[in-house]
Amino acid sequence: MLGGKYTPTIGLEVHAQLNTNTKLFCACPNQFGQTANHLTCPICLGHPGTLPVLNQKAVEFAIKAGLALGCTIHLHSVFARKNYFYPDLPKGYQISQFDLPICTEGKLTIGDRNIGITRIHMEEDAGKLLHGDSQHNKGGSLVDLNRAGVPLIEIVSEPDIVSAQEASDYLKELRNILRYLDVCDGNMEQGSLRCDANVSVRPQGQKQFGTKVEVKNMNSFRHVQKAIEFEIERQSLAMEQGETIAQETRLWDIDKGVTRSMRSKEEANDYRYFPEPDLKPLVVSKDLIHELRQGLPELPAQKRHRYIHELQMAEQDAQTICEDQKIAAYFDACMNIFGSSAQHAKSITNLLTSEVLRLSNEKGQDVDQLHITPEKLVDIVKLIEDGTISGKIAKEIINEVAQTGAAPSELVEKKGLAQISDTSSIQNMVDEVVAANPDQAQAYRDGKDKLFGFFVGQVMKASKGKANPTLVNELLIKSLSK
Ligand code: ADP
Ligand code: ZN
Ligand code: MG
Repeated sequence: MLGGKYTPTIGLEVHAQLNTNTKLFCACPNQFGQTANHLTCPICLGHPGTLPVLNQKAVEFAIKAGLALGCTIHLHSVFARKNYFYPDLPKGYQISQFDLPICTEGKLTIGDRNIGITRIHMEEDAGKLLHGDSQHNKGGSLVDLNRAGVPLIEIVSEPDIVSAQEASDYLKELRNILRYLDVCDGNMEQGSLRCDANVSVRPQGQKQFGTKVEVKNMNSFRHVQKAIEFEIERQSLAMEQGETIAQETRLWDIDKGVTRSMRSKEEANDYRYFPEPDLKPLVVSKDLIHELRQGLPELPAQKRHRYIHELQMAEQDAQTICEDQKIAAYFDACMNIFGSSAQHAKSITNLLTSEVLRLSNEKGQDVDQLHITPEKLVDIVKLIEDGTISGKIAKEIINEVAQTGAAPSELVEKKGLAQISDTSSIQNMVDEVVAANPDQAQAYRDGKDKLFGFFVGQVMKASKGKANPTLVNELLIKSLSK
């Protein structure tokens, strides 16, 4: 296609719902999926005469996000009214921050690239419109105001992102950081995390950015990536044909896989921002910022770095484990119980990334919900390392523990799963297998080396997987060469 001829530039605006107990300016519960309009009060319904009261927790969550993204946290910031009319906005304005946001100038690192964070500001969410037919709704639209007043932070990036893939990586890392901080659940399907992408292209070599188009309405990593890819291609093609790109807002059409124009710059709202008269400027103390900084958890990038450099973990494994803070916490718990070392990390990682994550997927449960707890996984690894069980039996035991929650060592005893490591009983099995397969034995002696695996398999089968594989190998070599 036109790849290479035009250079893309991307900046993302991400809205993240803060998972506070209550809304930003009233005491209504902040919950998803409740009966429509039940989580409302005169404040979030925008009744005249009511006054907003700022949620302290939401401020703390916004500061935590700012600290994790290396932002300057402003001791003084200001809420502003953003005025517009829409049926999901009963007050006729949204309380947001405009020229004095709480956080500015941070960065997010992906691989060896830094993506600048322009600002993080606080604002309230609007309600939700339900369009189309339903049993309550014959052809019209309904409004649910449970979401009205839910606290949001908007995280605006610099136009530093250079590809659809990098945009997707940025979004994944950002989501992960917010989840590690426990300030946003990151559930994109439920709209807890929403992304608008600003995309422009310019002829290769040109310094000045092209005109940007904003794509809204994307609720998955895949859609963000696809929509950006589509826009880059569409804009490049338009430029190739000598057209000028109009600044506009477009919507991502999930079904057709295209973006469609929603409104041009001329139709854009004039929000008539002014400082919110019902709220004092937001003043935070240095002490609070210090306290929040001290309380920051180890973040995904730091964790990956520690795993790779202190525990010699493979990069891909570090990536997999750190992708979900619950998995990382599970791994860290194993290290705490077992003692943190490269060898222990390797043994745990092997079973965690294969068996435990498979079980978690199959059962649709997070790792911290499984019967196979860090304690039990460590017990199993210890049983392998002291030679009590083989790696194969370990997998069996993990499955059994996952079903019943039984203690691994008791299972080994009860089911007679202990590895057979005494030479004479293995020798007996080897002798029987060799005697039962004289033709193969001869063929092996005549040079068909590949048959060795067949004999190992037969002996393991005879022992029901319990024979010590090292001994089996040793004794087979001797017996077959006789
Ligand atoms: P607006 O005033 O239209 O909201 P901003 O300057 O605030 O524009 O930028 C909004 C978002 O668009 C930011 O994420 C920014 O990085 C991005 N952006 C700005 N200019 C461009 C451009 N030419 N191409 C791509 N993205 C851009
Ligand atoms: Zn309310
Ligand atoms: Mg802007």
